[in-house]
Amino acid sequence: MRDDSTSKQHQNRHRWVLFLIIAVVLGFGFYLGPILLESTPPTLELSGVEGGKTYRGHLTVNISASDERPGLGSLTVQIDGDSPQPLEVVAAKHGEITWTLDTALLADGAHHVLVTATDKSLRKNTTQQQLKFVVDNTPPQLQIPPESRRAGQGRTLAIFAQTDEPVSVLTGEIFNRQISFHSVNSTTLYRSLIGIGVTHATKEYPLTLKATDLIGNTTQQTFPIEIVKTVFKRGGYIVLSPAKKKIMMDKSKSREDNAKRGIAYAKANKESMQLWEGKFIRATEGRLTSPFGKYREYNTGVRRHHLGTDIANDTGTPIYASNHGIVTLAERLHIYGNAIVISHGQGVSTSYNHLSEIRVQIGDRVQKGKLIGLMGATGQVTGPHLHWGMVINGVAVAPEEWTERDFSGLEK
Ligand SMILES: [Zn+2]
Repeated sequence: MRDDSTSKQHQNRHRWVLFLIIAVVLGFGFYLGPILLESTPPTLELSGVEGGKTYRGHLTVNISASDERPGLGSLTVQIDGDSPQPLEVVAAKHGEITWTLDTALLADGAHHVLVTATDKSLRKNTTQQQLKFVVDNTPPQLQIPPESRRAGQGRTLAIFAQTDEPVSVLTGEIFNRQISFHSVNSTTLYRSLIGIGVTHATKEYPLTLKATDLIGNTTQQTFPIEIVKTVFKRGGYIVLSPAKKKIMMDKSKSREDNAKRGIAYAKANKESMQLWEGKFIRATEGRLTSPFGKYREYNTGVRRHHLGTDIANDTGTPIYASNHGIVTLAERLHIYGNAIVISHGQGVSTSYNHLSEIRVQIGDRVQKGKLIGLMGATGQVTGPHLHWGMVINGVAVAPEEWTERDFSGLEK
């Protein structure tokens, strides 16, 4: 009987040992196994930055990392192969981290960031993602060639601005008003045309330019612009008939004319395309009887600069469009007689006055050299001639300058 009870006690001890061994094996399997043997790497996703794109200022990268078993161990970022910087992993299994990089700490140019997620297993399974991007924290640089910084009274100031990179915005301010720029067959060359009045004060003026590059870097630069004196011819005493004297003295008539011309010139300001090509041509054949800007006196007592170029010839002499454009006025005016205005775009207009006949209609597209009318003596004149005018953004300038110089591009 004693032997029996001893062998039973023995059996019970064996069972307990076996149970412990099984418990240890299972425990190892459940708790330590994944840590030692698990081989699935974490998942890792980056968003917020488009690969290859250019950035400035702060760059925000959203990092999303997960590891179900045994959980996330570490997350690091490495900029351009420098030593890895650890990011704080808050959650055990799933991390959403917003990482901000101040690109001002990097040089302009191409960079890359390597993000590494490592799990807690002994094997240290890792997943890596690389981001490539370009940094540009430098605003555009502007240049204005010296020949573009000077103009005479009654002439055209053509400001050419060169940039070292394409810009999304380029605006200017001179003479206390805003000026607009248009690109000239290039993403780095821009032009603004400004008419300088015959009595514009001669001195140096500051031109302030503001430019923004394609990703938002902005600059402001100031350049000196010099307006120089033009010596205009003086003299000429114009005797008008009593009827024409009456028209000249009737301010309502000239106001009416100027309102209509103003509307026509404004259409050229709205036309952002450059319609003209190369140099302008003289609008007609004949004798130059009064150059642009000549200071004249009338028998009405009025003294003023002549704001056009007079070319005299017989009535019926053909009048041609000085350049390509769109007809913005074609009607009889009081002072200017039968008149045509052509818009060449970007604020540039030419006018043809005192015609005996108008051969175009408002809205017509005309080519350089097209016959648009015939010379005459309508309106306030002393004989048949063409009063050929040019207006740049509302200011009368010498049309002759445009026959000598090609304003399309920079002079070589
Ligand atoms: Zn005239």
